[in-house]
Amino acid sequence: MEIIRQPNAMTSWSDEMRDAGRSICLVSTMGFFHEGHLALMRKGSEIADEVVVSLFVNPMQFGPQEDLSSYPRVFEKDAAMAREVGVAVMFAPAPEDVYAPGFQSRVEVDGLTEQLCGRSRPGHFRGVTTVVAKLFNMVKPHFAVFGEKDFQQLAVLRRMTVDLNFDLQIIGHPIVREQDGLAMSSRNSYLDEEERRQALSLHQALLLARQRVEGGERDAVRLQEELGGFFKKFDRAEVDYVAVVDSENLNAATVINEKSLLALAVKIGKTRLIDNTLLMG
Ligand code: AMP
Repeated sequence: MEIIRQPNAMTSWSDEMRDAGRSICLVSTMGFFHEGHLALMRKGSEIADEVVVSLFVNPMQFGPQEDLSSYPRVFEKDAAMAREVGVAVMFAPAPEDVYAPGFQSRVEVDGLTEQLCGRSRPGHFRGVTTVVAKLFNMVKPHFAVFGEKDFQQLAVLRRMTVDLNFDLQIIGHPIVREQDGLAMSSRNSYLDEEERRQALSLHQALLLARQRVEGGERDAVRLQEELGGFFKKFDRAEVDYVAVVDSENLNAATVINEKSLLALAVKIGKTRLIDNTLLMG
């Protein structure tokens, strides 16, 4: 596996591969790999000849009160894990090479970013779309895989790719979970023992919701209220949002149907966790 740091070296590598007729899949990450990341990389090797994993903790997508400086960074371990699953290149640029002095451009998607995480993390998606657009230009992939755990991010990036005519295909990957159901996340490492226990409330809420819908519940507002009450049983849990939305446009739903997605963001102690499920899928 090659480790590439410079954006222009990355582009030259991709140009060579493209000239040789080899397809490239990008998996963009912030590192501290877990099985969720590895599943995306394996998916990449199924659909393309070469997998490039980018590792970049993107300052532009963190708010001033968020965990940019404490975000876990374990470069050597990540490199070993990526090598193990057959990744061709780990692209790990320095912030000053991604955002060179004088940088003043932004990529912004409107409507889809206005609700859910966009509401509680102002500027977050602008940071994501800006860096991913730049990664698309630097890596020139034919495919890019993103996790459904970040459902809104996936929807926003699909929109950006169509709107800005990026010549590549976006692939979504299902959520990878721990054995007990907790969605894998680099941020799970922040949880202490009691918080780790209470973090299960997110998955339990998704299961409860699916059970209610199976039992005939179609009223989105009533379901949200019940779930809000459910989280009150967990003293370390503070709900940011419990939202039933249309999975295509992310608008709030009133009636539950095949397209309805339940999305959760809940702070467990200081750690903000997200999860989601289709309610009738
Ligand atoms: P991150 O390093 O957290 O920015 O995540 C990098 C990519 O991995 C994103 O496309 C995430 O949606 C995806 N991802 C993170 N956790 C999971 C998970 N538990 N299941 C599936 N995909 C995930």
